[in-house]
Amino acid sequence: MKNIRFNQQQTSAIGIGTWHIGEGTPNESQHQMDAIRYGLDHGINLIDTAEMYGEGLSETLVGKVIKDYPREKFQLVSKFYPYHATEKLIETSLKKSLQRLQTDYLDLYLLHWRGDTPLIETVTGLEKMVQAGLIKNWGVSNFDLNDLKELSQLKNGTNCRVNEDLYNIGSRGIEYDILPWQKQHQMSFIGYSPFGSDGGAYLNIKPILKEMAQAKHITVHQLLLAWVIRNHDLLSIPKTSSVEHMKSNLEAVDVSFTADELELLDQNYPKPNQATSLETI
Ligand code: NDP
Repeated sequence: MKNIRFNQQQTSAIGIGTWHIGEGTPNESQHQMDAIRYGLDHGINLIDTAEMYGEGLSETLVGKVIKDYPREKFQLVSKFYPYHATEKLIETSLKKSLQRLQTDYLDLYLLHWRGDTPLIETVTGLEKMVQAGLIKNWGVSNFDLNDLKELSQLKNGTNCRVNEDLYNIGSRGIEYDILPWQKQHQMSFIGYSPFGSDGGAYLNIKPILKEMAQAKHITVHQLLLAWVIRNHDLLSIPKTSSVEHMKSNLEAVDVSFTADELELLDQNYPKPNQATSLETI
């Protein structure tokens, strides 16, 4: 498995997304657990979840899987609701997440998106959780450049390790300003929904993707994932419920592109040439 530098450590080139898992039948949950196990057994060492996902059902399913693995072998990322972003509620949410996940610490705890709580209060609460040893580090999600700049001005604001935003071939806005800013400030980037989320609802699959995938003897999903991680400078966290798709996503890590192929994709899905509003799901 290829690694990237992420959160100041060596991390697999892709992580495991877990939105919508643990919400179905016992049989579906079994397939989802098998898929996560397959990923962990084949070199993936990061899992992304959130208290929001199935109101704890995703964390519960992840907890059932990871209890069989040495905890230090992977990074565990979870997120709290913006309306749990006060000092007191962060602690309550975190302890519930840890219980569901059957672990005693998170590697990263993220503010899921920005709400009404003043950022300084959230940062203070997160720093306390670091001090208490319940989280190693913290970060944010769905932050745009202005949010990141504001955060960085606050006391301890530069301790923010990661920002997690939407990133796939059809949503490239972050390339213009957010990603360069994060690189400059040594803040890692997690790109979510590499396939445009469940059913590809947020991504327009143009004919070029099918043509290029066919020519490269890969699937469109493999092409989409390989494209997101093409520069080895960010983490993508595809979600899948099946071992078959997990295998396919693992194979995509080794797919590379020629300069001509990248140019052709740019023509169909242009790079941003100006700042745009942050897209979210
Ligand atoms: P993705 O873009 O990862 O797409 C998931 C869909 O792709 C599912 O329908 C899945 O089906 C399908 N799929 C996965 N692998 C393959 C494959 N190899 N071949 C064919 N189909 C495939 O969607 P998500 O929105 O779930 O994003 C990924 C993760 O990012 C989330 O699970 C979550 O952890 C995180 N996220 C974070 C957000 C935030 O606000 N911070 C917002 C949205 C997502 P199947 O399950 O059947 O394989």
